[in-house]
Amino acid sequence: MRKKVVVGNWKMNKDLRETVALISELKKSLGSKIEDIGVVICPQFPSLAVAYSLLKDSKIALGAQNLSQHSDGAYTGEVSGAMLRSAGCQYVIVGHSERRQYFKESDVLVNAKIKSALKENLIPIVCVGETLAERETGSTHTIVTAQVEGVFHDMTAEDVQKTIVAYEPVWAIGTGKNATPEQANEVHRLIREIIRKKYSKPLAEGMIILYGGSVNEKNASSLFSQANIDGGLVGGASLKSETFAAIARAAADAMRLFA
Ligand code: PEP
Repeated sequence: MRKKVVVGNWKMNKDLRETVALISELKKSLGSKIEDIGVVICPQFPSLAVAYSLLKDSKIALGAQNLSQHSDGAYTGEVSGAMLRSAGCQYVIVGHSERRQYFKESDVLVNAKIKSALKENLIPIVCVGETLAERETGSTHTIVTAQVEGVFHDMTAEDVQKTIVAYEPVWAIGTGKNATPEQANEVHRLIREIIRKKYSKPLAEGMIILYGGSVNEKNASSLFSQANIDGGLVGGASLKSETFAAIARAAADAMRLFA
């Protein structure tokens, strides 16, 4: 049985003081309700080391929102996988649509970043998803297929197995308009099918595929109870401890459905 996972993507929100406050609230509100599921928070780079020192004694894991494809050297402003590891990260988000849109990250670059993350034993949370125009012209399957094939180009089954995929339709991110559970489940099924064809059935069936795009405490249960949805990548609703804890509880409840 696949584990349910919820990941909080804090984006460019919360300074160091606010990070400390939110982590302390989260530790209280999540309590013991997350025994069976994975919970990850991804604050910004300057807060990671402090966040790690606060999370060490908890079940909440730490992730970053991006990494460099390079391992070290003259790349002003960049942060390597090894640096994230040394700050206490276990996960890193790669290829988020905001990075693709504002920083022109391509599938080729995302592929290089996944490889860099794996080299440092970081678990990449690899984002894919179509824009509104692509959905409206019926291109969702073509786009998502090209992205999945592109980001995993030239990668072994052993490496792909160590990754998490997040299906995040761009039109649903930060808009308050989530994909319906059925719409999301259909694309998750497609992603599993692509992985099955390219690698194997066990790999496809074991892969954790998260949904992201306006997940909140009201829609989390119906999304997470879909057979192919293994949890969520949560932006806005991860910035408040009560809502993120409610989403984590929904994941824990949904996991019991499949036990
Ligand atoms: C995200 O940032 O990955 C995201 C899904 O944001 P939101 O939950 O705010 O739509």
